[in-house]
Amino acid sequence: ANLTFTPPADGAAVTMQNGRLCVPDRPVIPFIIGDGTGPEIWAAASRVIDAAVAKAYQGRRSIAWYEVFAGQKSFDNLGTWLPNETVEAFRTYLIGIKGPLTTPVGGGIRSLNVTLRQDLDLFVCLRPVRYFNGIETPVKAPEKVDMVVFRENTEDIYAGIEFKEGTEDAKLFFDTMSRIFPDRMKKVRFPESSGFGIKPVSREGTERLVRAAIDYAVKNGRKSVTLVHKGNIMKFTEGGFRDWGYDVARREYGALPIGDGPWLKLPNGIVIKDCIADAFLQEILLHPENFDVVATLNLNGDYISDALAAQVGGIGIAPGGNINYLTGHSIFEATHGTGPKLAGLNKANPSSVILSAEMMLRYMGWTEAADLLIQAIDRVISEKTVTFDLAEMIPGSTELTCSAYGDKLVETL
Ligand code: NAD
Repeated sequence: ANLTFTPPADGAAVTMQNGRLCVPDRPVIPFIIGDGTGPEIWAAASRVIDAAVAKAYQGRRSIAWYEVFAGQKSFDNLGTWLPNETVEAFRTYLIGIKGPLTTPVGGGIRSLNVTLRQDLDLFVCLRPVRYFNGIETPVKAPEKVDMVVFRENTEDIYAGIEFKEGTEDAKLFFDTMSRIFPDRMKKVRFPESSGFGIKPVSREGTERLVRAAIDYAVKNGRKSVTLVHKGNIMKFTEGGFRDWGYDVARREYGALPIGDGPWLKLPNGIVIKDCIADAFLQEILLHPENFDVVATLNLNGDYISDALAAQVGGIGIAPGGNINYLTGHSIFEATHGTGPKLAGLNKANPSSVILSAEMMLRYMGWTEAADLLIQAIDRVISEKTVTFDLAEMIPGSTELTCSAYGDKLVETL
């Protein structure tokens, strides 16, 4: 075991005081390099991030990076996929970032991402979706997409309460439920060969998610928050989400009905509306300009983020953040996997990690550095100098290696 967990001595912890993040000028930021393409992506990305911070603050601010371990690298060296020290580092220093991790197959090992999310109760999965000029996408006007998805990260069918078809547990579950709720359980068409799943959605879970979405809309001058749900069918879970979402807007933000409702308007003009999930997937193709901040449940959010990412051609460069706005805990991450076929070829696109760092800097309040990163990526992509994946989507482009693309971004900052 040649890996050590030693935080840098010259940095200070980010803290949460009276509900506000306090970020020192040299915060300790734990990071996981990640497996597969992780090392080459991190090498390129971290140089770009440090250069953006240096340029924005002229040495007044900098990041004290703290490498912590997880995934294959950790398993090979330490014999464990996710050491406690790693979880504790993210707990102690509040804000962290990670590259893609290999999900161990079989053996009852939980997904590392899911474990981190659950242990730190990172209840928001934040996914901004924007278009970068020049990328060819499957739609005619991708530039009309500018949305920020707040996906609930801890509840819904993802809670993992499931009973496998044909097992004793499934039978016991069905028999017990049938004794207590005979009428409802009669609706199961093929009880003997059914698997079952439980979908918990709470008022508390919904309220904290919708609050985070509204706060974000207020802080960032957004026009609307749309609650996306399937409440016409799943009345007490998805329908609950819609009702509780509207409730919290009325009760805590002074939202008032527009006409007869149910849409609401905040005193500052932000509209709170809702949309049924299937209609929403049509609407984002037909009228994407009508949507801005989106608040939705776990499963809907999964579908919606991928659909939107594809719409802007950015499925490989989509960033993400998992955040608990109450405690401040957050882990920002590339949304793609480890790209096993690309690993070691110096070809992978580091943009997803860089854009995740952009989100992280903005979350820290280091807006100037975040802006520099976005502008540099925007410029480099519009100049058609990109890694192989985007080169395929940009006619007349020049293909760069992962490291050369990083160099280009540093020059452009
Ligand atoms: P993947 O995202 O690694 O690959 C999907 C496609 O995207 C491939 O064609 C790949 O070449 C391409 N791609 C991935 N990263 C890229 C990059 N940076 N630049 C350009 N192209 C890129 O998904 P997969 O192959 O299904 O999964 C591989 C491993 O990653 C699995 O172990 C999986 O569990 C894990 N995974 C981890 C995360 C995470 O840590 N957040 C997410 C998804 C998958």
